[in-house]
Amino acid sequence: MKVAVLGAGVVGSAAAYMLAKDGHEVTVVDRCDRPGMETSFANGGLMTPSDSSPWNSPGTIKRLGKMLFDSNSTLKMNPSAIPSIVGWGLKFLSNSTHNRHKANMVSNIRIASLSLETLRSIRQNAPLHYDQTTRGTMRVFPRDGHMSGFVQMCREMQEWGVKFDVLDQEQILEKEPCLKDVIDRYVGAVFFPDDESGDAHKFTNEIARLAKELGAQFLMGTDILEIAKQSSSRISHVKTSMGDIHADAYVLSLGSYSPLLARPLGIHLPIVPVKGYSVTLPLNGWKGGPTRPVMDDGYHAMMVPMGDRLRMGGKAEFARYNTKVDPKEGRRVLDDILKILPSMAEHVDVNSALNWSGLRPMTPGGPPIVGPTPYQNLFLNTGHGPLGWTMSCGSAKMTAELVTHGRVLTNSVDPRNYML
Ligand SMILES: Cc1cc2nc3c(=O)[nH]c(=O)nc-3n(C[C@H](O)[C@H](O)[C@H](O)COP(=O)(O)OP(=O)(O)OC[C@H]3O[C@@H](n4cnc5c(N)ncnc54)[C@H](O)[C@@H]3O)c2cc1C
Repeated sequence: MKVAVLGAGVVGSAAAYMLAKDGHEVTVVDRCDRPGMETSFANGGLMTPSDSSPWNSPGTIKRLGKMLFDSNSTLKMNPSAIPSIVGWGLKFLSNSTHNRHKANMVSNIRIASLSLETLRSIRQNAPLHYDQTTRGTMRVFPRDGHMSGFVQMCREMQEWGVKFDVLDQEQILEKEPCLKDVIDRYVGAVFFPDDESGDAHKFTNEIARLAKELGAQFLMGTDILEIAKQSSSRISHVKTSMGDIHADAYVLSLGSYSPLLARPLGIHLPIVPVKGYSVTLPLNGWKGGPTRPVMDDGYHAMMVPMGDRLRMGGKAEFARYNTKVDPKEGRRVLDDILKILPSMAEHVDVNSALNWSGLRPMTPGGPPIVGPTPYQNLFLNTGHGPLGWTMSCGSAKMTAELVTHGRVLTNSVDPRNYML
């Protein structure tokens, strides 16, 4: 079957590979000149089923007001974005009840675990190079932090297969001696042995390479202008800046831009762009940093080793489609990391850090939207929010199963909820 995958981010590229592996004739269409150049370019790099708890945990309403009006908060609202997110925001809050939050968390865990399993099996058959670590991740908690509540949530996740260990100060240092200068700040840590990390941009290009080896074509530098329908139940073709593309099936994976192309078809996807920042510091051979990703719960900061670089990140900002990089935000991220790794400034030129920003395609509940639509030959694989790299191989497998065999593998959000 001819399948057109719309979007060559990590989500579309992984789907293209799984579809090509199933024997389809795949064409991927994207406006950038290479795969993985937008949100999949410099994200946090965490491949973490352990991070499956959606952002709207119970009690969100109380915390939200405080966070939005605190200038040091990791959450920011640009006033111009308010009108466009009112409806979405109400859905976000309605998903913050204990039951809804738990159901969404379980969906995320299932897709993320399927993803890790799928990634590992791809790696067994083809060596992939993307600055990966496979040594787990560690979340450290300051004395005034929320460790006991977090451990409670980990126990809930454990029921669904997420393994974890609680560490004391000595065990933290055994794993990450680089924290010795600040160890007294921490009351303990939670270690997730199955988590991994890696450069999502490099991975996207690696998986695109494997897809091409199986015959997939990548039409880069091509703007998708419209998804044209033949009838109320069938797509006829896709109009692009390079001409029309005809296929038997179409997979929509345009990240934060998916709603814009779906809306004229009567599909109202509840996905909003949530901006985030990352900072990437070349280490030039310095080995004094962490050997696996470390998240500091107090500063809401994370540092992820990526080959000879350290990736750091944080922040969520509602700013519509604005991806302008604000160097002040990058500096703030870096300053928090320097509080955790003070010796880094003596060995590394912190002024050589590269700032980046991208748009997380967020659904109000958390899980992505993967599944069929009222158009028999249009499928959705989009809205992966803060976990798109973590879930990419899982949702790719789900998409391929659906397109190839009509089988639904695991429960994400049913896209039919969003049709008008
Ligand atoms: C700061 C930050 C940190 C993050 N950290 C992590 C993390 O640690 N772990 C994790 O799992 N996830 C993380 N994420 C989330 C993750 O990066 C995203 O969920 C993921 O990249 C989304 O992938 P995608 O393929 O859906 O979207 P994208 O990567 O944005 O791909 C969409 C593609 O569609 C193309 N496109 C859009 N519109 C058109 C059009 N009209 N015509 C042609 N092409 C078009 C774009 O060029 C783009 O290549 C983070 C995100 C941010 C912003």
